[in-house]
Amino acid sequence: MDRANILIIGGGVVGCAVARAVSQRWSDVFLVDQMPKLGMGASTRNSGVIHSGIYYPPGSLKAQLCVAGNRMLYEFCAAHNVPHRNCGKLVVAHGAGQEAALEHLAENGRANGVAGLRLVDRAAVHAREPHIAATEALLVPSTGIVSAEDLVKTLARIATDQGASLLPRARVVRLEPREDSIAVTLAEGSASGGPPSPGEISTGETVEETTKETIEARCVINCAGLYADEIAAMLGNHNYRIYPVRGEYCELVRAKSYLVNNLVYPLPHADGLSLGMHLTRTLWGTVLVGPTADYVSEKNDYERNRLPIEEFVRRAKPMLPELEAADLQLAYSGIRAKLVPPGHGGFADFVIARDTRATRAIQLVGIESPGLTSSLAIAERVVSLAAEILD
Ligand SMILES: Cc1cc2nc3c(=O)[nH]c(=O)nc-3n(C[C@H](O)[C@H](O)[C@H](O)COP(=O)(O)OP(=O)(O)OC[C@H]3O[C@@H](n4cnc5c(N)ncnc54)[C@H](O)[C@@H]3O)c2cc1C
Repeated sequence: MDRANILIIGGGVVGCAVARAVSQRWSDVFLVDQMPKLGMGASTRNSGVIHSGIYYPPGSLKAQLCVAGNRMLYEFCAAHNVPHRNCGKLVVAHGAGQEAALEHLAENGRANGVAGLRLVDRAAVHAREPHIAATEALLVPSTGIVSAEDLVKTLARIATDQGASLLPRARVVRLEPREDSIAVTLAEGSASGGPPSPGEISTGETVEETTKETIEARCVINCAGLYADEIAAMLGNHNYRIYPVRGEYCELVRAKSYLVNNLVYPLPHADGLSLGMHLTRTLWGTVLVGPTADYVSEKNDYERNRLPIEEFVRRAKPMLPELEAADLQLAYSGIRAKLVPPGHGGFADFVIARDTRATRAIQLVGIESPGLTSSLAIAERVVSLAAEILD
């Protein structure tokens, strides 16, 4: 049986950021992921936006870790040549009611310590984004975009260089707390076969599990994203339930990508479900329209009953009046790990805490947006919790 100081479950951006941070301080660090490659979950199926931190209630973990993570991410990307761009964004309003909401958003952002927020008029919007309709907008200079795939790869490479062992195709199937460790049983492969490409329906077939091995870890860190509730339950902790919320994207056809220069957002959904379907110019010059936000019943249901293109047009047209159905093609989708059940609405914060019963475990649950932005700040917090267990 292998022995580890730390075993991290999940090799998305959060698990990889944690692996990098803990392997600076401790030896015998393992990271396992059920997929054939790291970062195949939400971490590479998102908008790639480096959020500023304007949306979240002051004092919440989301607010603190997003604002800190934004700064850390720019520094990290610059130091390690991860493709990114600090392009800023506009949150647009149409009419007096929405302008008042924009002012509230600006106040909330300032309370969270977001610098440089400024309300701008129609002419200023037109100068930045000539095809966007708005009566007023909030200019958010600290927002940007990052190549999430390169970020995951870079974090994983640094962790490996620091001596961590990163093991793809290793699925955690059992966790057994012992006196001074947790025994982690691994099987080969994933339960679902993994996310499909756009248009391809996941079969949900179970990959045959052949090999099984056990690693005994002094500290286990649950970074399993959509499956974090199931990992917590393996330790007897049934406090969490993750509700999958799918976000679908379309992409502007190349000939129409001139319609959007940077990032343009509507006001967020009043029920807190999402930031609203936005326009994102990627690092590669393509323009994403999305994501939508709909509860789905399966955690691997990426493609069934996709919204028709006409629905994307209907929702994006108030911001981009020139948009027509022929300008769009379907793109990928991602699934959010929501802690708020359907029909409830409201805010749920990140959970980042030691398990109260299995005290050698650290639970990270509900790490939805802004998890990509916050990943480095989340990792710093996890290091403090791991130190309580290991030092
Ligand atoms: C549509 C969408 C748009 C978003 N946009 C943004 C954005 O613009 N900016 C931003 O900051 N955030 C955004 N987010 C949020 C961000 O993508 C997530 O917060 C972040 O990727 C979470 O990373 P993670 O490592 O926790 O999860 P994941 O990337 O899902 O990683 C979890 C990993 O755990 C593995 N795993 C699960 N169970 C097991 C098991 N039993 N054994 C072994 N491995 C297991 C999975 O294979 C997976 O690789 C968005 C999310 C979505 C869905």
